[in-house]
Amino acid sequence: MLIQKPKGTFDILPEEANQRQHIEKKIRKILSNYNYDEICTPTFEKTSLFKRSIGEETDVVSKEMYSFNDDEFTLRPEMTAPVVRAYLENSMYNEFPVQKLFYFTNMFRHERPQAGRYREFYQYGVEVIGSNDYTVDAEVIALGLQVLKEFGIRDIVTKINNIGTLQERELFINDLKKYLTKYLKVLSLDSQRRFEKNPLRILDSKEPTDIEILENAPVLYEYLSEETKEFFTNLIELLKEMRIRFEVDYKLVRGFDYYTSTTFEVISDELGSQNAIFGGGRYDMLVEQLGGKPTPAIGFACGIERLMIVLNKSKYQYPQKERLKLYLVSIGEKARRFAIKTAIELRKKNFKCGTDLLVRSVKSQMKEANRLNAEYVIVIGSEELESNEARLKRMSDGIEIDVMVNKINELDYNID
Ligand code: AMP
Repeated sequence: MLIQKPKGTFDILPEEANQRQHIEKKIRKILSNYNYDEICTPTFEKTSLFKRSIGEETDVVSKEMYSFNDDEFTLRPEMTAPVVRAYLENSMYNEFPVQKLFYFTNMFRHERPQAGRYREFYQYGVEVIGSNDYTVDAEVIALGLQVLKEFGIRDIVTKINNIGTLQERELFINDLKKYLTKYLKVLSLDSQRRFEKNPLRILDSKEPTDIEILENAPVLYEYLSEETKEFFTNLIELLKEMRIRFEVDYKLVRGFDYYTSTTFEVISDELGSQNAIFGGGRYDMLVEQLGGKPTPAIGFACGIERLMIVLNKSKYQYPQKERLKLYLVSIGEKARRFAIKTAIELRKKNFKCGTDLLVRSVKSQMKEANRLNAEYVIVIGSEELESNEARLKRMSDGIEIDVMVNKINELDYNID
């Protein structure tokens, strides 16, 4: 092996590709029921788009972006910023007052690879742009959870918080820093680094010492306005009415600067340290920050590989690959030519068929037909070609019937 794939990437081999297709199809159906439309954007964007929206001091922008051409462009590390860019650039606000959009695509982050964390990974996600009604928050959370439920995933915890507006956070961050100053030296190195540049993220620390210190820290919720608190209470009540189980976690802040108001994350213990399956929140200021009119919005992204890890652990039964309807066994060159032409004719009629591509013996061709789980087999040799008579064999019970060779491409392949 001369050259291997880059670290943190993976090949998707046929069996897994089939599984992914099944996952995608199922998720797309749910998204369609919720009335979301797909949006696709370029794989790379101007680097400034991500700097401006995600924030220069975040982990993603400060150390995880794949940037090139003198830093002008960057492979997308997430989709919210590109979707908002596309929304503005294509004046989508003129079309409908509320846009309900989804994507299903790959992302790139130069992270330290580990189980469930890759440098190229797939996400499906939604963005609802144009409404500040809390029912949207509930719908979006319900949608994400329904996807998990339809895959039979039950062992999850849904965490919800409200991180308020930038103004509401300002006073909190001041007080948080004041409180943390006396512990600065004992905080983890990551938290020490975040203290100056991104103190809110310290709340997210998984380090036991940090967690202990944070126990008596100021609580962000207490800094929220009555209006924000009422929004949060309404959302919580609605989620309860929907019988959604969740925990309020006042320390839940997410990794991107654009988040405001509602934040949420769904975690699974099956996932180890990278335990979030999906997460998101409101980003009510982002459209304006990118040059649009003030427009509230909310979204989330779900990692497909993490979803698959949980599915594999729960021994999820993926559907079987569609079986071959017919395998044409051929003996000799003339029959091989006949077999391939006939197979192509049948494929045009929507039958899944296979032929021998290795000039093998009848025995190994039959073996191949079995391996491919072919429903029917026809053996064609010079005799069959001459007499125009062959046998159609049903593999499940060995029943055979006579067929005319020149009518093979007109049969309906249903012996009953
Ligand atoms: P984020 O875009 O960081 O809010 O992440 C949303 C979801 O994407 C997470 O909950 C994960 O399921 C998934 N995800 C994020 N980063 C990675 C990664 N490096 N590798 C695999 N999945 C990821």
